[in-house]
Formats: sequence, C-alpha cells, structure tokens
Amino acid sequence: MLVDSHCHLDHAKIGPAPEEAVRRARLAGVERIVTICTRLDRFETIKAIADPYNDVFIGVGVHPHEAGAVGIDAPEPLLALAEDPKMVGVGETGLDYFYDLAPKDAQRRSFEAHIPAARALDMPLIIHTRDADEDTVSILREHWQDGPFPILIHCFTGGQALADAVVEMDGFISLSGITTFKSADDLRAVLDTVPGDRLLVETDAPFLAPTPHRGKPNEPAFVAHTAAFWAERKGVSAADFHAQTGANFFRLFKRVPQSVPVAA
Ligand SMILES: [Zn+2]
Ligand SMILES: [Zn+2]
Repeated sequence: MLVDSHCHLDHAKIGPAPEEAVRRARLAGVERIVTICTRLDRFETIKAIADPYNDVFIGVGVHPHEAGAVGIDAPEPLLALAEDPKMVGVGETGLDYFYDLAPKDAQRRSFEAHIPAARALDMPLIIHTRDADEDTVSILREHWQDGPFPILIHCFTGGQALADAVVEMDGFISLSGITTFKSADDLRAVLDTVPGDRLLVETDAPFLAPTPHRGKPNEPAFVAHTAAFWAERKGVSAADFHAQTGANFFRLFKRVPQSVPVAA
C-alpha cells in the first residue's frame, strides 16, 4: 500500500486545495495520508481538513520552529488531544539547528515533553531533526532508558550515526523527495544501510517535491515518484516496495485502520 506518511495539507503553499490534493493522491494510488499539525492551537483547523476523509489522519505536536512561541513542557496536552481518533502520531517535534528559528533550549525542552506522550500512547514520535544529529541521539537515548517508545525520523537528512542509533532503538526512517535529488549521493549511501523493514515514504508537501517535480509545490500524489525511485534503486517492483513500506507504516502507526471504506 502506498502511503504519504507526512505532509501539511493546511499549508498555504500546498499546490492544490486540500480536497483536490486528496483526490489527486487517491488517483495516484495513495491509500493513507498523515497530515501534520505543527502547533497545538492549529488542531481544530487540521481536524476540519482531515475529518471528511477516512483515509486521512493527523500527527500532532509542536514543530521545533514553533518551540520558542508555543513549545510545551509537559505531555498532558498531547494526551488530551489523542482522545480524538484522528490523531495517530506525536509530532512533528524535534530539533532544527539549521534554521534555528527558536532558542535551542526551548527546542530541546519541547521535544523532550513529547516523548512520554509517544510512550504512553504507543504512537510514533515523529521527529524533525536538521543539523542536530548529536543532540537528537542523546535525547532519544536518555529517554529510552525510561522505557521504549516508537521512533520515526521524518524527512531523514542525517548522518550514519543517527541512522544507526534509530535502527538500534527499533525506529523507522522516512524517505522524502530530497532522497531523489541528484546531489543527494551521500544521503542515499546512508539510507542504503537502513533495513527495508524500517523505511517509510513521505512527501513533506508542500515542501521538497521529488524529481521530476523539483522546485514546484509538492502534494501527496507525488509520493509515488519517491517510492518509484527507491523501488528501482533496490531492484524491486513498485508494488513490492509499496507493500513493504505500507506494512512498515501499519506496524508503526498502529492506530491507523488497515481497512477503511473509502468514499468515492
Ligand atoms: Zn519537518
Ligand atoms: Zn513536516
């Protein structure tokens, strides 16, 4: 099953309107979409987008860019929002030292507050990490000692040590359009070492459209290009790659139903 495990249907730069994006994704064979809520006060807006569709679900967290303004310091607000069955993941949260739009200590504090929620809910901790491999690994390892929790590095752009640590902690890594760019040889070399049963695919739409749409607004339908790229690289059929990454998705996102009656 082809899944877009991470996108932002509410983002103003999404190519088509959300309804059109979902329609085109279905036509492209995308059977589940996880759209991400990047600050808790956006939940009702995202929920209104997702609610009409029984194949669209929500990850809820505070993006590291927002951690200075609306970061959280305790997991309770996430636990409360998880009473809504549309919520299937905790995040995105994490650390972004590249854009550095929020103070690093605020990013770390908010990231750490998400972890007990992911553990308690048995939902993936959806991690955004950029230029912050070392701090990400040390925070994950430290909290891992208090008990395991499901880990997903979305839009992976990290190094080998991060990939190794995530695999060691039974975590998953998601392939975005970046991995299809000509210039991404070093990144692909790292990703080639990740076992096939730990890989997901995503668009991160409206950002980072994969080849051949690079530079244009991204949309969930385009996840098919990233999947096709990796199927070819791994020497398997697209159907087999969809089956594997789809199965991985359901092992990680346990709350997403494996069969849903999708409206025409
Ligand atoms: Zn992100
Ligand atoms: Zn995102």
